[in-house]
Amino acid sequence: MFIFRQSADLQAYLKKERLSGKKSGFVPTMGALHEAHLSLVRRARGENELTVCSIFVNPTQFNDPKDYELYPKTVEKDIYLLEKAACDVLFLPDIPQIYPPGVPQNETYELGHLESALEGKYRPGHFQGVCQVMRRLLQLVEPDRLYIGQKDYQQCLVIKKLLTLLKMQIEVIICPTLRESNGLAMSSRNLRLSDEEKERSAAIFDALTYMNSNIKEGCLKELLAAAKNMLLLKGLQPDYVEIAATDDLRLLEAWNGQARVVALVAAYMGKVRLIDNMVLPLNFAGYAN
Ligand code: AMP
Repeated sequence: MFIFRQSADLQAYLKKERLSGKKSGFVPTMGALHEAHLSLVRRARGENELTVCSIFVNPTQFNDPKDYELYPKTVEKDIYLLEKAACDVLFLPDIPQIYPPGVPQNETYELGHLESALEGKYRPGHFQGVCQVMRRLLQLVEPDRLYIGQKDYQQCLVIKKLLTLLKMQIEVIICPTLRESNGLAMSSRNLRLSDEEKERSAAIFDALTYMNSNIKEGCLKELLAAAKNMLLLKGLQPDYVEIAATDDLRLLEAWNGQARVVALVAAYMGKVRLIDNMVLPLNFAGYAN
């Protein structure tokens, strides 16, 4: 695996590969890699001649400086895991490589409702930061395909919107959420949980599956309240438990009994904020969750 720390070196290498006709798949990450990240890398490897992964903990998408400071860093292990997954290229920039000094970073992106709903409401500025870093990374890597996880459902919609705004022709592949055996979605932040907290955090998955089994045509209020209660009973502090339209995340108060919808949860276990989602109903024709 080639490791590049300088943007210019990465670009020069990728240009050569592109000119030789290779299609590339890109997996952007913030490191502290786990099996879910590696599943994206393997998928990219299966579908492209060249797989590029990046590790960059992007300061501009953290609305809470403490969260940024405490974000787990395991670079040596990450490199080992990427080598083992046969990733071709790792981009490992420092902050000035992504945000060169003297270059103004003042673009804002018109994300509409996606910016202020759900994660946007609880993490003001977060998705502008995501767009900022994704734009820079995509302009450096120029991939044919981009691999991202459904675990960050709203982020997937934001990135698709960004590509439309920037008129970038990149195919987006949304990969399924990988979970621990108790259902807890894999996340780098899980490293900050004790074993006992991980067990209790599985209530997020239980609440999602409860909503999947019990969703009925009509008002959703009771279903959402019951799901929220399942979190509270395990000591999770929910920011939100919502059901929304899959395409634009407008919040739903009632279900028409037919449309595919997405249940989304954000909750704190102690100081660690966890998010997860599930597209409902799971057995909806033609959809693999
Ligand atoms: P992160 O390093 O958390 O920014 O994640 C990098 C990429 O991995 C993003 O596209 C995430 O959506 C994806 N990802 C993280 N956790 C999971 C998971 N449990 N299942 C699937 N994809 C994931």
